[in-house]
Amino acid sequence: MTDSKYVYSFGGGSAEGRSDMKNLLGGKGANLAEMANLGIPVPAGYTLTTEVCTYFYDHDETYPESLQAEADEALAKVEEIMGTRFGDPDDPLLLSVRSGARSSMPGMMETVLNVGLCSATIPGLIKKTGNPRFVYDAYRRLIMMYSDVVMEKAAGVEPAEGQGIRQQLDRMLEEVKESEGYASDADISADDLKSLAESFKAKIKEVLGKDFPDDPHEQLWGGVGAVFSSWNGKRAVSYRRIEGIPDDWGTAVNVQAMVFGNMGDDSATGVAFTRNPATGDNRFYGEWLPNAQGEDVVAGIRTPNPLNEDTKNEQNEHLPSLQVAMPEVYEQLFAIRNQLEEHYTDMQDIEFTIQDGRLWMLQTRVGKRTGTAALNMAMDMLADGLIDSRTAVRRLKPEQLDELLHPIVDPAAEKTADLIAKGLPAGPGGASGQIVFSADDAVQWVKSGKTVLLVREETNPEDVEGMRAAVGILTGRGGMTSHAALVARGWGKCCIVGAGALDIDVVGKTISVDGKVFNEGDVLTLNGTRGLVYSGELDMVDATENPRFVDFMKLADELRVLKVRTNAETPDDAAIAIEFGAEGIGLFRTEHMFYGTGSEEPLFILRKMIMSGSEEARRAALDELYPFVKRDMKATLEIMGDRPVTFRLLDPPLHEFVPQSADERRELAEALRVSVEDLDRRADELHELNPMMGHRGVRLGVTFPEISEMQFRAILEAAAELRQKGKACFPEIMVPVTCAKAELDDQLKLAKAVHAEVCEKYGVDEVEHLYGTMIEIPRAALTADEIAKSTQFFSFGTNDLTQMTFGFSRDDIGGFLPDYLDKKILPVDPFQVLDRDSVGVLVQTGIEKGRSTRPNLKVGICGEHGGEPNSVEFCHLVGMDYVSCSPYRVPIARLAAAHAQINHPRD
Ligand code: ADP
Ligand code: MG
Ligand code: MG
Repeated sequence: MTDSKYVYSFGGGSAEGRSDMKNLLGGKGANLAEMANLGIPVPAGYTLTTEVCTYFYDHDETYPESLQAEADEALAKVEEIMGTRFGDPDDPLLLSVRSGARSSMPGMMETVLNVGLCSATIPGLIKKTGNPRFVYDAYRRLIMMYSDVVMEKAAGVEPAEGQGIRQQLDRMLEEVKESEGYASDADISADDLKSLAESFKAKIKEVLGKDFPDDPHEQLWGGVGAVFSSWNGKRAVSYRRIEGIPDDWGTAVNVQAMVFGNMGDDSATGVAFTRNPATGDNRFYGEWLPNAQGEDVVAGIRTPNPLNEDTKNEQNEHLPSLQVAMPEVYEQLFAIRNQLEEHYTDMQDIEFTIQDGRLWMLQTRVGKRTGTAALNMAMDMLADGLIDSRTAVRRLKPEQLDELLHPIVDPAAEKTADLIAKGLPAGPGGASGQIVFSADDAVQWVKSGKTVLLVREETNPEDVEGMRAAVGILTGRGGMTSHAALVARGWGKCCIVGAGALDIDVVGKTISVDGKVFNEGDVLTLNGTRGLVYSGELDMVDATENPRFVDFMKLADELRVLKVRTNAETPDDAAIAIEFGAEGIGLFRTEHMFYGTGSEEPLFILRKMIMSGSEEARRAALDELYPFVKRDMKATLEIMGDRPVTFRLLDPPLHEFVPQSADERRELAEALRVSVEDLDRRADELHELNPMMGHRGVRLGVTFPEISEMQFRAILEAAAELRQKGKACFPEIMVPVTCAKAELDDQLKLAKAVHAEVCEKYGVDEVEHLYGTMIEIPRAALTADEIAKSTQFFSFGTNDLTQMTFGFSRDDIGGFLPDYLDKKILPVDPFQVLDRDSVGVLVQTGIEKGRSTRPNLKVGICGEHGGEPNSVEFCHLVGMDYVSCSPYRVPIARLAAAHAQINHPRD
């Protein structure tokens, strides 16, 4: 332990760290080091490693012994490079204390700026700069941040809603602005700021019962401790849960010399992206504010200026761009933009500050982007030779495809819609919902089954759970780099920011615009791609085909080995799935022809069959049903052509189809020529206490062989007829809910007999097909070596397998799952993400045992997991041949399969 190095220095053209040391230095620290090494101007500083954080939490919130000495040494280096000393009354160095986790958590953790200002150093700094206004502005910011971050949040004080110390101080600031008639923060005079600082300190003493520290070192270590504490702050924890970031990673702390964007009109601060993060256009894109500091841009306090001509929009076109206001600095920044892109070969999100005309870089990281932007950037960079095709394929997360295929507002509906405001297009796609005005309401309303849009003046990190719950986000203030925009873009969520025309009253829960008032619960529609807000609900349509998407998917297909099929039971769904690139049907659920439109007639006949008391009556009903079943199967086989189609025999318990209403029963009794009483008695017989484990799947075929026979005949005759016409087709017969080899033998005997009859009828030797089973009961997985003797393929039905492995009812898990996730009893919903530790072991065992008997056993999956990227990776790892998922998830599975092969190559 003692030889651990806990502190890494950077600045003055070199650094001890590098960009590949993110685990140790956090993303921010590693990239500050990298920039320093590249010779880019970065204010000097040092990073306390994530190991300090781990130590801190393992040792009762204390530091390693050697830390103080290492930090002192690093601070001395900073002082040397910057030529000023921390706490020096004549020429004080000021510091920022910044958090920095391994992967960026925008705004989730804390930053304190201007550390080191106190009664001893203020006069010296005023004398040195000749700018008292600047000094008192910096001081009031320090007091605001420090009291909030260190004295309240890190101290565990939980103020009432709206009564946080920061909010109270903010209100005092607003009061001064109002009473003096100042339009913006920049107008407040030095004297006002000076007396404000004094009232701030009195307020802090009154509210928090403690004095604001007047000692630079106390401020510094208070800030460091608060950043470490913020790792376990409420919003950081909930953000980590949403993003799946492990709790034990810890954060680093960066202590860095301050540079000042608030020293006057030659000073500024800004945020930029090396390419447009919404569209992917290869143009420098950003926002800046003159005479401002720190988070003013991101916080959405005032509408920021455009960085350049490319960044102008309706909200900011009247404001001067940096390109025009400070052309030389802009050129320098542009050169750094190019240098960073070439170095990192990816789009960067950068923060910079200009002090007295001198440019300083404060941060660079890989920028979050929409799915569309990710696609365009990947394909552009590939074309420019900046990256190779594997890298291009990795640049889109499979989940992001979801967003590319997401609905947009129907342009036809938009033409006649009632446009109420315009804002900035911060997150893509369209969304309609009832408006709510707080994150908590969003969460509550969604829990009660509503679809909501979250409306805020601006969002802050405390709102993330509500932002997540809402289908769309609308804010009145803020720019394209505001918190709401950043977070929404990262999630690919529909979002409009800075819709300034809206008068949003979050307390009264109303939006007023042009004399109209919208109340909580009213419905609005957002076009996040164009920044348009409409009243009422508008239709949505699927995003149009993007040719780059097709090219991109081709690259992915070249890389993957896992095949991707779809779950579909109608020719229409099959056609959609082929468009999305499905290579077969992995699950055709025969019972689906008894649900939905056009199902009345077959359903009635099926009911007759079910309610028949005798085999003879059942056979008669099955004969009637036969043409319907064969028709659907044949049409689907035909459309799939040379792609295989797996037909699953009737799966659900029969009682699911028993008519419930008195009218329906009367009608059915008439058709069957039995009394209603008899029919009711038969329905009672079919009633089961635990139908999911009841008379279903292969069990039906065992007790009613005629039901299986009818299905075998439908499949084989459909195939025989298509082949007769010279058409290719590949049916696979799949027996569900199997738990023993003998069940399969029983059914196989029937299938063979039917096959012989069909061959004779069509005058052929064979109707080519496969015979296989679902593995969805633990016993089947555990006896797979036996089962494989009687089947040619396995398809893992991981929905039921998960249900039976956990003992969780698929249909009732909603009642307790949220508690399980909240209390971290489960990391994720096992019905969404395949549980590798349990279900995964059964799957792997099943495959190994099955292939020990039958080496060429074909293996796939047909549960919901087949379209979930993490589970697709698992299927790849255990050597499956294919996954099968719903049509809309096919592209996601294709990309996930490509990623799996890139990360874990297999034959
Ligand atoms: P976040 O992770 O929330 O982006 P940062 O550590 O980047 O937090 O700090 C927020 C803002 O504070 C930065 O965007 C920058 O404007 C300002 N800031 C941080 N460090 C300095 C510094 N050394 N000098 C001037 N401004 C700084
Ligand atoms: Mg930052
Ligand atoms: Mg099942």
